[in-house]
Formats: sequence, C-alpha cells, structure tokens
Amino acid sequence: MELNQLTIHELQEKIKNGETSATQIIESVFDRINAVEERVHSYIRLMRDEALAAAKKADEEIEKGRINTLTGIPIALKDIVCTKGINTTCGSRILHNFVPPYDATVVEKLRKAGAVFVGKANMDEFAMGSSTETSYFGVTRNPWDLERIPGGSSGGSATAVAADECIASIGSDTGGSIRQPAAHCGVVGLKPTYGRVSRFGLIAFASSLDQIGPLTKDVEDCALMMNVLAGYDPRESTSVPMEVPDYRQFVGRDIKGWKIGIPQEYFIEGIDPEVSAAVKKAITVVQACGGQCVDISLPHTEYCLAVYYIIAPAEACSNLARYDGVRYGHRASEVKDLLEMYKRTRREGFGAEVKRRIMIGTYALSAGYYDAYYKKASQVRALIRRDFDEAFQKCDVILTPTTPTPAFKIGEKTDTPLQMYLSDIFTISTNLAGNPGISVPCGFTAAGLPMGVQFLAGHFEEGKLIQIASAYEKNANIEKRRPQL
Ligand code: GLN
Repeated sequence: MELNQLTIHELQEKIKNGETSATQIIESVFDRINAVEERVHSYIRLMRDEALAAAKKADEEIEKGRINTLTGIPIALKDIVCTKGINTTCGSRILHNFVPPYDATVVEKLRKAGAVFVGKANMDEFAMGSSTETSYFGVTRNPWDLERIPGGSSGGSATAVAADECIASIGSDTGGSIRQPAAHCGVVGLKPTYGRVSRFGLIAFASSLDQIGPLTKDVEDCALMMNVLAGYDPRESTSVPMEVPDYRQFVGRDIKGWKIGIPQEYFIEGIDPEVSAAVKKAITVVQACGGQCVDISLPHTEYCLAVYYIIAPAEACSNLARYDGVRYGHRASEVKDLLEMYKRTRREGFGAEVKRRIMIGTYALSAGYYDAYYKKASQVRALIRRDFDEAFQKCDVILTPTTPTPAFKIGEKTDTPLQMYLSDIFTISTNLAGNPGISVPCGFTAAGLPMGVQFLAGHFEEGKLIQIASAYEKNANIEKRRPQL
C-alpha cells in the first residue's frame, strides 16, 4: 500500500520504526493529489509549500525522538476554520480574499500535535447544503462515482480522506455536515457534543448548533483526532471545562451487555431499501458483539427538520450580517453611496442558498413573528432534547441510518431545496439536542456506493461512541475497497 492510503496509527508505527519520514508521507499525498484532484476537486486551496516545510520540521522532531500524536500526519482543513495568513473562504465569494490574522483553536492544537496541513477543503457556501454544490469554487465529486455528490457541507473533507488525498480531515457539523458526507464517501465522521471542541476561529453558521469534528479512515484514527481536538478553551464561551479522557482507550473494548436503542421513528418508509438492509445488518452485528437491542421512541422526531430550518437560518442571518464589505471580504466597486455598497456587496458576494437562508431567518426574527417562529422552535427544541435524555435512560447508545439514501446525482436536488434538506433527516436532531454522533461505513450498494450507520450517545459520551463504533468496525468485516479513480 502507498503511504497516503494508510491510517494515522499505521503511519505512526512506520515513523516510530524509522521506516518512513514525514517528507515521504506528504510527498505521497501530493502525488495522489496531482493524479486525482482535477477529477474530484476536494480542495479550494492546496498548501504545498507550507506542507513541505512543516514536514521537514516534523522530520527534525522525529530525529530528536519527539513524536507527538500527529507528528508528520497530513491533515485537510475544511475552509471554514481560520488559518493565520492563509486564505479562508468558507466556500463563498464574499470571503474570496479573506486572510485571517489568527488560527482557529483546532488549527493551533493540530499544529502543536505535529500535523502537516495539506490544504483547505471545499464545502457548501457557509456550510449551507448537503452536497457541496453550493460552493462558489465549484462542485466536489464523489470519488466512488464522479457523477454523484460527496455529501455536504464538509464534502471536500470527506472526499480528501476517501480518495487518499490526505490521512484525516477536519469538518464542521451544524445539522449533519460531518456525518452525512462521511456516510456518502465511506469514511468515519464524528460530531462531538456541543461544547466539547472549541469553535474559536470557526466561521459561524448557526452558533447554537455548530461543532467541529474529525473525518478519518477508521475509528482508531477518530479517537486519536479527538484526543487532539477536544478540550476547554478560555477563548470560547460555549466550550465546556470538562476533563478529556484518552479516547484511544475505548478502541477495541467490547460492548457486552450494552443496550442499543433502536428508535422506531428512524426506520420509516421512504428509506432506500439498500440502506435499510445495510443498517438492519449492522443491528445484527452489534447484537453478535453482545449488544442487546431495545425499542425506543423519540416522539418529537417529526418536528426536527422544521425546527432546524427556523433556528439555523435565524442564527445564520444574524451571523452573516457582518459581511457588509466594510471591514473585510468582498466589496462591490463603483458604488454611489454606502447603502448601495452594502447591497451590491451582499448581492454579489452571497450565492442563492445563502440568500434564501438569510431571507428565511430575517423573516422568522421579524417583529411580530419572533414568538410564532423562533421562540416556538426553541420550545420544541427543548422537547427534542428531552426525548434524547429520556431515551438514554433506557439505552447506552442509539443506532440509526446516517442518511436515508446513498449519494445522489449531481444536480438532482439543486432545484428542490426541501428534497435537499431531507437528506439530513437522521442527523439534525443530534445538533438540536447537542449530543454527539458518529457515522461508520456499513457496506456498499450493488452499484458500489458506500453507506453509513450512525451511533448516538449522551452528552460528553464520545468515548462510548468510539467503543461501539470500534466494536462494530472490527466485527462487521466491511469489505476494504478503495474508490477507482
Ligand atoms: N445540510 C444542512 C444545512 O444545509 C446541515 C449543514 C451543516 O451541518 N453545516 O443546513
């Protein structure tokens, strides 16, 4: 196998044994990028020079025997996390020229852990979307079928891992944007508990829902990434001062006697039959591992999508008010006055989906409508959260499909936003409730498209997710395939 095809833990072994160097690893990643990037378009910007310099530095550290969790490991960053001195666009024209003066906390942490940054991954504009088709910088293609979407909004982060154009990547998840593309691309994706990972330096979409997390080639890598990412950050007021366990200790542990909640509301009509069959098979695997399935109910599930599409646009419209052409980002030229500058800047800078969200959000927050929409949605959100709290009285983890269908065709849902919104139907509830969730590959369709199974746990129980995901991964024996590019 080529170096770029290996996992973090496999590369670590090779580095420790002196079998390979950070420079060799990053070179193999860039060879792969040269070969396939034109077809998949995972990246908005590559950081070749920075990466080679960082790899050289990593090799000096390795030479001195100083090997950290991610020393010499090539990582892709979704272009929503700020990187000091490096363009950060959020997939939008309005930020096409934005160069942050600081690093996001996760970037700092990864750097400190020895990571080598490969580039900034493509994404739906401002993370609004489920297909990476709304990026101002063009669509990303699913490496398993170039006619199909990779999922979104962290589509570039997922394809970069799936196509071996990096070893692991960073995504963000507001309603499913890590887990859904992970499922569509056949990789592991974890959305941590709200407050577990610092959002400092993450460009805000919907602040009460956004969370940063890893996309990786296997569950053990996910644990390693979480060891680096998780933890309190005094610069981020919603980050929680709670101890971070060593997530790697949960890898390889058994789940004997665990109660696995199966929510009836997530096994509905309309799920693709191949997805349904793969997830049912996943249930038998966790049973064979000693898990005991219990029927549970999350009775307010039917309201999740509606609640999300009030809360997320409402928060987005206020977060996006700052892009006015005055301080940074795109500014319309040849305008006659300030008002025209604001208007033209935003008209030119934002794409259609972002404008749609701003309009929905502005409407929902308007005088006279606030109580009917945002306040009501917040009340129902509390009920959704309570559903989860009650469910976790009866089970250790919950098992669901990650997505209702495998990856759909490029262009198939761009004209029907509601259809597009439905592709997050199984992931959105967790963001509303703040719980963590992980998507793990659970097989392929007859046409060769990957599918994912999702596990959910109580707040700050990422360890449990790693434990069950790793038990599942070990026992499911999902065929190891690589996309043919
Ligand atoms: N697809 C959902 C949306 O468009 C979720 C996106 C996300 O998680 N960032 O809002």
